[in-house]
Amino acid sequence: MNYSHLIKPVLDQDYPVVSYGDGIYLYDTTGKKYIDGSSGAITASIGHGVKEIIDVMLEQAKKVSFVYRSQFTSEPAEQLATKLSQLTQGDLNSTFFVNSGSEATETAMKIAIQYWQEQGIKTKNKILSRWMSYHGITIGALSMSGHTARRARFVPLLEDYPTISAPYCYRCPYDSSYPFCKLKCATELDQAIKRIGPENIAAFIAEPIVGAAAGAITPPEEYYRVIREICDKNNILFIADEVMTGLGRTGKMFAMEHYQVQPDILAIGKGMSAGYTPIGAAIASDKVMAPILKGSKQIMSGHTYSANPQSTAVALSVIQYIEKNNLVQNAEDMGNYLVTKLTDLQKKYAIIGDVRGKGLLIGVEFVSDFLNKLPFKREVALTNLILERAQVNGLLLYPSATGIEGVGGDAILIAPPLTISEEQVDELIAIFEQTVKSLQNDLQV
Ligand code: PLP
Repeated sequence: MNYSHLIKPVLDQDYPVVSYGDGIYLYDTTGKKYIDGSSGAITASIGHGVKEIIDVMLEQAKKVSFVYRSQFTSEPAEQLATKLSQLTQGDLNSTFFVNSGSEATETAMKIAIQYWQEQGIKTKNKILSRWMSYHGITIGALSMSGHTARRARFVPLLEDYPTISAPYCYRCPYDSSYPFCKLKCATELDQAIKRIGPENIAAFIAEPIVGAAAGAITPPEEYYRVIREICDKNNILFIADEVMTGLGRTGKMFAMEHYQVQPDILAIGKGMSAGYTPIGAAIASDKVMAPILKGSKQIMSGHTYSANPQSTAVALSVIQYIEKNNLVQNAEDMGNYLVTKLTDLQKKYAIIGDVRGKGLLIGVEFVSDFLNKLPFKREVALTNLILERAQVNGLLLYPSATGIEGVGGDAILIAPPLTISEEQVDELIAIFEQTVKSLQNDLQV
């Protein structure tokens, strides 16, 4: 079959053609089986081909798939928004639906700016963020992303929002270690706000656990309490980007629960519909909504497909499936089991420098010299090598930009569907070990 009219990620590369999915497995048209060790792009969180979800899709499609949000509301959209308000912390009670993670973070950014405008404050327009972060590909979302590789070509169009260091404990930006570092990577925010002026800043945005940009960088327990205090003290909002971490992925429904800190706005996407339909959302607190309700009474954003009945029905059924099958607990249990297995491998293979993350969002960083934490030279392109070899061996993994950024070592994410069993983790680990072993031998580490 000739697919040459489709623009694929790498234009001159051959990709296998997917045939179907079943649970944690995907099959290509040659019959080859793959373990979906990354839930695609950390998205297919309940696995592939789940009948209950397909039934809901069909039922909703028979009733109505699309209505324009300025003409109709719908039961699935109302019910999903209610469900999200029940599942999220504190007063995060109002949801604005979009179609992707980038739209979710960009909407969160606009809501934050609007919050201040409704109170007559017109100067608070900047959003601060961290280096080694990824908040999406559209110009606003990319402006917030501290992902130098993805920013590179568009720098003239982008705002300089990334401001502070990532909480990258394995390679501490302050050459220290927790708790001796006194969380300087967090208090750096206070200095940045003073330098830029709180009167110019609407919000600070962060991924609770850094995903695509840095292989599951997981900050110490107190980190977000310090961040929240700095935001409050300086009168700026805090946006949590849970596009990757949300809806059970890290062993809590939302990763901010690990830190017991409530953001003012929460952005979600990816696992929200587990890949069955595109959907994302920005969820705002009562505090944020209050001046908007008093003022213009509308969020100044919107997309044609926002809140469509089809996607909201699917997302609602995915959340119900997660709850019914206790998948948040399974993410925690299987995540712990996976980390134990990976830590065992780390003792056998010096190429594995660090294993980190929470639940089933696990990062593995690779080094050429374990004791000195030396990253591989960029020309080795280790992340790509691992990804390619694992895929040949029947395991799909997700790349992180750490190595590409030239900041640290190459890293990958292991994030299988939350439905994975212990036997399936063993199966995943066996292919991962086979891949790491052959690479370590070939690279003579
Ligand atoms: N935010 C985070 C934390 C992400 O990981 C991603 C995608 O990887 C996005 C936002 C952008 O989401 P999307 O690719 O659905 O636009």
